[in-house]
Amino acid sequence: MSKQKRFILPESEIPTQWYNIQADMVNKPLPPLNPSTKEPLKAEDLAHIFNLECSKQELDQENRWIDIPEEVLDQYKYYRSTPLVRAYSLEKALDTPAHIYFKNESVNPLGSHKLNSAIAQCYYCKQEGTTNVTTETGAGQWGAALSYAAKVFGLEAAVYQVKISLQQKPYRASIMRTFGATVEGSPSMSTRAGKDIITRDPNHQGSLGTAISEAIELAMNTPNCKYTLGSVLNHVGLHQTIIGLEAEKQMEMAGEFPDQVIGCFGGGSNFSGIAFPFMRHKIIDGKNIDFIAAEPSSCPKLTRGKFEYDYGDEAGYTPLLPMYTLGHGFKPANIHAGGLRYHGAGTIISQLLKDNLMRAVDIPQLESFDAGLLFARTEGIVPAPESCHAIASTIREAKKCKETGEKKVILFNLSGHGLLDMTAYESYLNGDLRNYTVSDEDIASSLKDVPTV
Ligand SMILES: *Cc1c(COP(=O)(O)O)cnc(C)c1O
Repeated sequence: MSKQKRFILPESEIPTQWYNIQADMVNKPLPPLNPSTKEPLKAEDLAHIFNLECSKQELDQENRWIDIPEEVLDQYKYYRSTPLVRAYSLEKALDTPAHIYFKNESVNPLGSHKLNSAIAQCYYCKQEGTTNVTTETGAGQWGAALSYAAKVFGLEAAVYQVKISLQQKPYRASIMRTFGATVEGSPSMSTRAGKDIITRDPNHQGSLGTAISEAIELAMNTPNCKYTLGSVLNHVGLHQTIIGLEAEKQMEMAGEFPDQVIGCFGGGSNFSGIAFPFMRHKIIDGKNIDFIAAEPSSCPKLTRGKFEYDYGDEAGYTPLLPMYTLGHGFKPANIHAGGLRYHGAGTIISQLLKDNLMRAVDIPQLESFDAGLLFARTEGIVPAPESCHAIASTIREAKKCKETGEKKVILFNLSGHGLLDMTAYESYLNGDLRNYTVSDEDIASSLKDVPTV
């Protein structure tokens, strides 16, 4: 019998609820705090910036399953389910006894997992009478997804894109504008936060932290406008669990269950999406599953950051969030994995890491592209530079299996394709890319600005 390569769910089998891991966590995530009073925030407080439904989801520690609204499901059906794929050629190239599977979130027209939450957030904004949405974007994947989702629900979108990414990947901004959004490089002169940052550092290349500050400021100064975030927050991870819930059914079709679940890590949304539905079997049934978040060595919040209350953005506009952080002023090197250049980790992930329910590894830039190239040449998909980190971690584990002879089942999330990141591949192929290291002194110095709680 020929071997099955791809496992695809029929539309009728697409999950109709998201999984809220907060309900099952033994140690619940600590609450976000009001920066001036240091009091825990309620959903109503968050709703000054975010839509109310997402603000409630953010703090919901009771409801394990949350219904996906029908209009959102209808939009999911434009591209879901996404395939679960057995990476036979990669296994062969590595000569590993491990079984490697990947969940292919790159197949939707926007090219990454980000659409799963963009659709949900724009739907809730529309329901609550919002007319405008604003956001930040790094590599442009979130901005592109949000611009499309805003158009679907008839909202105006304004996007701040990290300046260096806008230069490296101009076509993502073209996609955003194709869907009708306005795009501005961050830091910009159009907000007070942007002006302050440029005054302090005229050559600032921008970071997710600067772009978030600008988008929040715009949301606060524009009537009927809400801010949306593409990662980090609990409700974003919640929407992304559609990935792991589908994968759970698909692994069952393949007759296997993962020993290891791997995702790349920026703020945590795609990792949460693939990992949380499987983690419930670790929390509830004590199943032995190894969860690995793969971050870049140049932005190592999980492996070298500190667990502290910190701001989610550079200017300090967000609530204080309990997170593994490098300090909100940390300036990551200009690596090509723009979506991973963020100083902190989401609060759920931070708690899970603290409780040893998962672990993290850091990947140097060159190793990430080595892995991406091998994947492209074996499986025929050019992966996003972000996703390359998950592939590199998978390859490390598959090589260990070769040494020990173990037939581990490894599942990783292919969070996006890299077809608009070809300048990065071009630099890599020309030998122009290098690794970046972060000194302990750099980390200690940016951690100095973390507020005391
Ligand atoms: C944004 C992005 C990431 C990183 O963000 P997370 O919230 O950590 O998932 C990873 N991969 C791709 C393709 C992205 O667009």
